[in-house]
Amino acid sequence: MIDINTLIIVMKIKTKVALILLLLSFSLITIMTSVFYFNTKSAITEIVLNNLDSIATIQKSHILNNIDNTFEKLNLIKNRIILKNNLEKYYINSKSEYLTNISKSLNDALPSIKSFKSISVIDKKGIILMSTEKRLINENFSQHEAFINGLKKDTIDTFFIDKFNNPSIYFSGVIIKNKQILGVALIESYPSQILPINHEFTGLGKTGEVTSGKRMKDGNILAISPLRFMPNSFLKLVIPIKETKRPIVQAMKGNESIFPDMINYREKKILAVTRYLPIVDWGITVNIDQDEVFEPLYKLQRIVLTIILMILFFTILIALYVSHLFTRPIINLTNTAIKISNGDLSERIEINSKDEIGVMASSFNKMAESLIYANNDLLQKNESLKIQKSELERFTYISSHDLQEPLRSITSFTELLEKNYKNNLDNQSKEYINLIIKSSKRMKDQINDFLDYVKINNKTYQYQKTDLNTIFKDVLNDISHLIKENNSVINTTSLPTLTVSPDLIFQLFKNLIFNSLKYRTSQQPIVNISSEYKDNQWYFKVSDNGIGIEEKYHSKIFEIFQRLHSREKYEGSGIGLATCKKIVELHSGKIWVESNAEIGTSFYFTIHT
Ligand code: ADP
Repeated sequence: MIDINTLIIVMKIKTKVALILLLLSFSLITIMTSVFYFNTKSAITEIVLNNLDSIATIQKSHILNNIDNTFEKLNLIKNRIILKNNLEKYYINSKSEYLTNISKSLNDALPSIKSFKSISVIDKKGIILMSTEKRLINENFSQHEAFINGLKKDTIDTFFIDKFNNPSIYFSGVIIKNKQILGVALIESYPSQILPINHEFTGLGKTGEVTSGKRMKDGNILAISPLRFMPNSFLKLVIPIKETKRPIVQAMKGNESIFPDMINYREKKILAVTRYLPIVDWGITVNIDQDEVFEPLYKLQRIVLTIILMILFFTILIALYVSHLFTRPIINLTNTAIKISNGDLSERIEINSKDEIGVMASSFNKMAESLIYANNDLLQKNESLKIQKSELERFTYISSHDLQEPLRSITSFTELLEKNYKNNLDNQSKEYINLIIKSSKRMKDQINDFLDYVKINNKTYQYQKTDLNTIFKDVLNDISHLIKENNSVINTTSLPTLTVSPDLIFQLFKNLIFNSLKYRTSQQPIVNISSEYKDNQWYFKVSDNGIGIEEKYHSKIFEIFQRLHSREKYEGSGIGLATCKKIVELHSGKIWVESNAEIGTSFYFTIHT
């Protein structure tokens, strides 16, 4: 995954400016649109719910009125004197004339109430004694809820589907004379008598509707009016009481409220309002699909989205143009700076403005001008330095070379003197001659070391892939006599193969190991050589258990002719470590020392791969 900070760092200024402008306008548009969208949505929701609420209130009072009316009509029927008298007499004496009178009473009443389909009288045992509908006579209603409930109180909630497959309803009420139950009056009617069935959907749009349900014995809810999009649902659709997201469930729980987010029988999201009619234990809901309600909003949303996209498109164009305007001078400045840094000092920035960028550009041009002077000056100085250096090196080389000549003469003449006048010389003179020979030899060694040191700078070396293990073995062979002499142990881990100058690395290892053996203590000398690859370079370590070096001399010892001991104590010229430093630098590395008088000394150096 790309890190956002890295992305910002590598991004061009132009892109950054464009991105900032884009982000600004995008967040502004998003905030404005969201505020507008949610405000409008809640306003629409409120208006529609208010509307549904009014419809629900009207529907509820309408149904309650209908119930009252129906109870009144039921009472008119069951309280007819002729009906009661003849029924009473019939129980005492089952003469057919009483039945004829009952029939006549029922048939007289039927036409006066148009919505009634039939009127029947059920006897005390539950058998239909007489009915305006002949086929019902003698039907056994003893187990029918219209009879059972009708005996207890006036009942108007027995729905069923009649023989013509139409919704029907029974009203029933007990017939009483002188506190004596004579039977039950049973009226078959249309449910539309009470409930808003086959109603028009005025004010309810394309998906709105009024639904009603009654509680079944198991507690679940049964639809008691055909639904708008499910005409066969009457007495068929059952809604489980635990589905609280259905508005009819809320209605049946007695919650008379508005619900902005419910689900209907078509599994659609709806806005709904609920009412409960305790007198009959029915619930009604008025609801409408959210899709329909919010359709204008969705349409608007699509339009706004198109506009936003267009605005964003133009914002991108403007942002790119503006960022181009801002960054053009900076880009010019950058390009010129790159050219100048690549060495083209004649390059200049075109100055088009007097703002901060203009001032910067003019300062930049001045800087380039001064750079030319400084550069020319530097080149001249460099040139003369080069000449001086090569003259100095030649001089050093020649003079060290020339010094050898008289030195050789001194040595050979002194040796001749010793040889020829051996017997004429007293001991004192012999010792002097010996000292002259020794000093000359030391001077010769020093000049040779110095020549080696100077040569390193003047000679060109071959750099090639070299197995350092081989170099290391060569060094050990070269100083094998010294190793044996000192009874020393030299340990090494496997060394890498690197592109180096084999001659120089030989010299480097030799000098360091040589010193480790030279600056030994009375203990057996142990030298450890190891290497490690870290951060693109090889680290080498040459450590010994010798006399150690005081910390204040740690940087001094790499300077030429720097020695810490007298010649009487330790032989040497003070050139070895200076040579090591030069060799390491020629391999783009560094050399340093860590030391402790009790433990010994460790030399570290690096070589770049
Ligand atoms: P020299 O010819 O004196 O050895 P070098 O340049 O090789 O010259 O070393 C400089 C000085 O650093 C030495 O005189 C010695 O005091 C000190 N030195 C170098 N290597 C070691 C070592 N392994 N242990 C202790 N001292 C050392």
